[in-house]
Amino acid sequence: MVPLPEVSLVRCRIPRRHPFLEGTSVFVRVDDVFQWTDRLEHVLEIVLAAKAAACLQVVPGLVSAQTVDGVRRLKLQHNESISINQHGYRHANHGAAVEYEFGHGRPFEVQRREIAIGQAVLRSHFHDQVFMAFSPPYGAFDVATLRACEELGFRVFSQERCHYGISTSLMDFSVNLDLLASYDPPAGRPAEELLHEWSRLSFPGALVGVLVHPELMDDCDLNALATLVDAMSSDAKVRFDTFESMWEKVAVGRSLV
Ligand SMILES: [Zn+2]
Repeated sequence: MVPLPEVSLVRCRIPRRHPFLEGTSVFVRVDDVFQWTDRLEHVLEIVLAAKAAACLQVVPGLVSAQTVDGVRRLKLQHNESISINQHGYRHANHGAAVEYEFGHGRPFEVQRREIAIGQAVLRSHFHDQVFMAFSPPYGAFDVATLRACEELGFRVFSQERCHYGISTSLMDFSVNLDLLASYDPPAGRPAEELLHEWSRLSFPGALVGVLVHPELMDDCDLNALATLVDAMSSDAKVRFDTFESMWEKVAVGRSLV
């Protein structure tokens, strides 16, 4: 397999426009869902109170029974505002200085097998409520990861890096607005900075993906998240989406072309 070029390591913070989305489409990606914690519940309360939607990135190899119950309950109560997606397999780190679970030249067969096992686990818990979107832990992937996801019937691939020049049938709904400034040690960003970035990323036809890591956020970060989603919610041109609602709009748009 050909490794991804260096450009893949660049964080994807570019303003984006999508030809089949109207207004400004915003999705909130909630990462590392496997333990049902107060912090996770608090984040979801903030997102849902603002009438936003949450794409839950569930780690199949780590998800607890309590979390399965919590996610099922949430889906039952807020059906169209909740998307259940796959975040890697076990969130293992096979690297050292560079962290990765997938990509980095791991054999295609191994990547495919792990993703398939994870897919089966999520289906056993959530059945047809799972939407076939894959996000790789640490944002790390390579061409083999994309090909494995294609073969396994995924529709959406969401990551944090740019992957220019690679042709894939997967729709790319990557994040471009990260609540955190750094991960090690975790550090949030002031609300003013988030609002400034939001004003840069939002325009007619824009696609904005907010990345949230509940377990790495402190109270100050929760307040910043609330300020951001409230500002988004008060903008009449904003539409909150899930991966499936965006996928449907884009798929319909393409078929009309
Ligand atoms: Zn993760």
